[in-house]
Amino acid sequence: RAKEQGRNRFCYYSDDLEYQFKQRQSVEKLLRHAIEQDKIEVFYQPKLALLTEKIIGVEALVRLRDDENKLISPLDFIPLAEETGLIHALGQSVLKQSCIAAKEWADKGHNIKVAVNIAAKQFTDGNFCNLVADTIEQAGLASELLELEVTESALMHDFEEIKIMLSKLSDLGLTIAIDDFGTGYSSLSYLKLFPVDVLKIDQSFVRDMLTDTQSMDIVRTITSLAHTLNLQIVAEGIEEKQHLNSLIDLGCELGQGYYFHKPMPKEEFDKLLG
Ligand code: C2E
Ligand code: MG
Ligand code: MG
Ligand code: MG
Repeated sequence: RAKEQGRNRFCYYSDDLEYQFKQRQSVEKLLRHAIEQDKIEVFYQPKLALLTEKIIGVEALVRLRDDENKLISPLDFIPLAEETGLIHALGQSVLKQSCIAAKEWADKGHNIKVAVNIAAKQFTDGNFCNLVADTIEQAGLASELLELEVTESALMHDFEEIKIMLSKLSDLGLTIAIDDFGTGYSSLSYLKLFPVDVLKIDQSFVRDMLTDTQSMDIVRTITSLAHTLNLQIVAEGIEEKQHLNSLIDLGCELGQGYYFHKPMPKEEFDKLLG
């Protein structure tokens, strides 16, 4: 629901163009400052094996603060970051922090895989694969401990180009996840064409699966598709014990959601790991 609100937030003021314009300008300014001053923050949300509830990974989620130190939702600045090109610096900061964190956890004996969201626009950087390779290397991270989350729509932008890039990235040893699976482009042929390892069931299906049979059917179908294609499956947005039980019944192995943990600063996750 927060996500829907985030997406529609600007619409409430659609009759007030000046407000919209100022809003955009102030977010862009915050973003530029945060990048210049190295103040892009990353929160981590644990990802668990549903049967054992053991933490096996985290998703890295970017955070930005306003002048009053309040967190601004990525839904309110990622699109702007893409339009302005700031996404390249922002994405690099998140990737770097995530790789360094995962290396630190590994050194402490915890094999925590870190999943980093990549925006469509980042693939327009011809040097993106090299950047990823360099970042992993400089952090000293085993590439198996990095996952990149890409949305279906991002893949459809420049099919051939992205196919080559994902293959290069996959050859580095990291894994590729399709984020928000089921909400985007509906052709499944790309699952064969791209080196995909993981499907993340969109949280909207998980949220509604207990009350809406269609959502339940979609979760069941995606899970069985993943099994057929030998892909890992991650359920997003698990908020209730009943979500968890149903997902386990369907054979879904991995998941994340407020039922377990909300995204948290690194220090907090460090404590959780113990
Ligand atoms: P996403 O990649 O699908 O990330 C999952 C979102 O769902 C996160 O929102 C997370 O906080 C939220 N979430 C997790 N568990 C639950 C739950 O049980 N219930 C509910 N209602 N929500 C849950 P967040 O952090 O606000 O991020 C929103 C979106 O912004 C992300 O969706 C992703 O598309 C984008 N994003 C976040 N960080 C980055 C980043 O570093 N780079 C890029 N390119 N995009 C990012
Ligand atoms: Mg994601
Ligand atoms: Mg998602
Ligand atoms: Mg999502």
